Amino acid sequence: MLKETYSERLTEVQARIAAAARRSGRDPDAVSLVAVSKTHPPEAVAALAEAGQTLFGENRVQEARAKAPLLSSALRWHLVGHLQRNKVRQAVGLFEMIQSVDSSDLAESIHRVAEEQGIRCRVLLEVNVAGEATKFGFSPEALERDIEALLGLSHIDIEGLMCIPPPVAKPDEARPYFARLRELRDRLETHLRVPLATLSMGMSGDYEVAIEEGATFVRVGSALFGERSGKTWRPKSDVEI
Ligand SMILES: *Cc1c(COP(=O)(O)O)cnc(C)c1O
Repeated sequence: MLKETYSERLTEVQARIAAAARRSGRDPDAVSLVAVSKTHPPEAVAALAEAGQTLFGENRVQEARAKAPLLSSALRWHLVGHLQRNKVRQAVGLFEMIQSVDSSDLAESIHRVAEEQGIRCRVLLEVNVAGEATKFGFSPEALERDIEALLGLSHIDIEGLMCIPPPVAKPDEARPYFARLRELRDRLETHLRVPLATLSMGMSGDYEVAIEEGATFVRVGSALFGERSGKTWRPKSDVEI
């Protein structure tokens, strides 16, 4: 893809984000764009960075670990995919935020590693809003039950919630799921009297609807980078990860 194409796509997505925010009476600056670069090579990330994007999302620790060192250290990385327990140590140092904390066990494990490293880790709790058997995440009921204990973990900062709704044919069909995440957040804030300001929801097909429902992070991949080949990006085999 041409360099100009990245900058045109970024401008287009930014304009749509701003329009969706204004439409719903929100400040466009309250919505941050996470450019999901999974499967795309560092050159594509660099092209988007040159166009002004600094925040990127990856769904695999290994892929991010291989890519990030090849790019400007000014870029910020968020993990948006399931984190295996044996990768927690690598993830905590690498990502500015782990958006996909999908169980209490994982939250505790991140807390322990962050404590050892003497840092605090920013996280979002992932909610399985549609109760899909195949998906990771807290059920709304489990979250309401467990979140108080998680808020007591001193080395993670729980900043809000994240969801990946089931695939839908039309963007508007995702609206009830986004609304459900916002309502759950509102309920938790009221009961617990803690701020959970961040709602990470909306992808290429439905981020405008998500913004109308309160998203503060939208995670956009293909609308910026083009379609994915489906394969994980790997460095040439002579590069040690
Ligand atoms: C891949 C991915 C995205 C981006 O998906 P697009 O439809 O390409 O925008 C967003 N969130 C998560 C968790 C992903 O894995």
